[in-house]
Amino acid sequence: MTYIGNVIENVIRNNPGEMEFHQAVREVLESLEPVIERHPEYARAGLLERLVEPERQVMFRVPWMDEQNKVRVNRGFRVQFNSAIGPYKGGLRFHPTVNLGIIKFLAFEQIFKNSLTGLPIGGGKGGSDFDPRGKSDTDIMRFCQSFMTELYRHIGADTDVPAGDIGVGAREIGYLFGQYKRIRNAYEGVLTGKGLTYGGSLARKEATGYGLIYFVDEMIQAKGKSFENRTVSVSGSGNVAIYAVEKAQQLGAKVIALSDSDGYIYDPAGIDFQDLRQLKEIDRQRISAYVKLHPQAEYHKGSTGIWTIPCDIALPCATQNELNKEAAETLVKNGCFAVGEGANMPATPEAVRVFHQNGVLFAPGKASNAGGVAVSALEMSQNSMRYSWSFEEVNSKLKTIMKNIYLNVSEAAREYGCQDNLAAGANIAGFRKVADAMLAQGIV
Ligand code: NDP
Repeated sequence: MTYIGNVIENVIRNNPGEMEFHQAVREVLESLEPVIERHPEYARAGLLERLVEPERQVMFRVPWMDEQNKVRVNRGFRVQFNSAIGPYKGGLRFHPTVNLGIIKFLAFEQIFKNSLTGLPIGGGKGGSDFDPRGKSDTDIMRFCQSFMTELYRHIGADTDVPAGDIGVGAREIGYLFGQYKRIRNAYEGVLTGKGLTYGGSLARKEATGYGLIYFVDEMIQAKGKSFENRTVSVSGSGNVAIYAVEKAQQLGAKVIALSDSDGYIYDPAGIDFQDLRQLKEIDRQRISAYVKLHPQAEYHKGSTGIWTIPCDIALPCATQNELNKEAAETLVKNGCFAVGEGANMPATPEAVRVFHQNGVLFAPGKASNAGGVAVSALEMSQNSMRYSWSFEEVNSKLKTIMKNIYLNVSEAAREYGCQDNLAAGANIAGFRKVADAMLAQGIV
């Protein structure tokens, strides 16, 4: 068996039941074959064996008392996967599906994504199986305070800097930051995605969605195409989806569909962005409420139905494995020519194969959604300088970063003989920097 095959087999044996983690490791390692062939020093240094083992993983009890004085217990996680190129960095996810395997897959992906940004940040991820859906502000605050009462001892501005992810937005980051500051008596940039009145960065909220569009725009422009007058479907209707809609519209696209975990909307006239933002960010409503304001739009139950709507460009921005082989085949049949992952690993490996086989331009999440963590790193810089940049300054840095990621990824794909396979290019480019840093730092 090959060196890579052996490492994958050991990962499966040593981490039973962690399906998403196995999937992510296999996806990355298989595309590193030509790199390992060209660089035998990586195998000699046991680099892949070390890379697939988290430096540290913490699991903890999160007890809290809800508004009805009922005792609740959730499980908390923080996986500090790799610190070769900087302090651990990666979001916190609050969702009932969270378990160790999910957090490990996300933390592993984060290593390469963070490396691609060109900024000095390592890979980590955390979260809890707590479900914020339908909870009062008081319950959310009590949960966040209990969660941070354990997490604080593992993180720090130069050690590990968490951020938001699914179920963790500005409100949750505020409660988490407040509790950290209270326990540590230190006002430091220990979290990103903070509010603008207490150390947050302008354009952080928009960064992942905008960055996705900047990346996809580079990818399609390289083939002589643009967003102008294209129809676009965006799955999810959270932070990433909302700002992908805004930027796609600014570039002249017509966004016709959005979803949540219950169902999807189709608006042939094009989504009204202001109403969308009001509904989701301020009123915290379900996406189905959109059709009450726009009677020409349709609501359908079942979230995966969104991929049956014909569109030119598909942007999965909800969650992992939400777009399978069948959905990919339907998109291809309906004339979709580009897919950009806003979420982490939203397309299954079989779906990605369908896109590659049919010449659909495919932007892999670890490159195309790196704008969020890139601006998080810019937030860290601003906190360290005790200074803040304007929206335009941050947005223009974001745009440059996304363009450079596209160039690096496509160049790496070319260099290693897999031209136009940006998924392989992203893995290779992300890996090289981390691998060289690990080599230089010895067996640690
Ligand atoms: P949010 O919690 O803001 O939004 C998630 C959205 O996805 C919600 O509308 C949710 O609906 C929907 N959703 C969840 N599961 C499904 C499903 N099975 N089918 C359809 N819709 C679903 O999260 P974010 O927007 O922050 O994150 C979305 C994705 O982007 C995640 O994969 C995340 O890891 C990734 N990401 C986020 C970054 C960020 O900066 N926020 C950075 C990089 C990646 P419901 O309300 O029904 O649950």
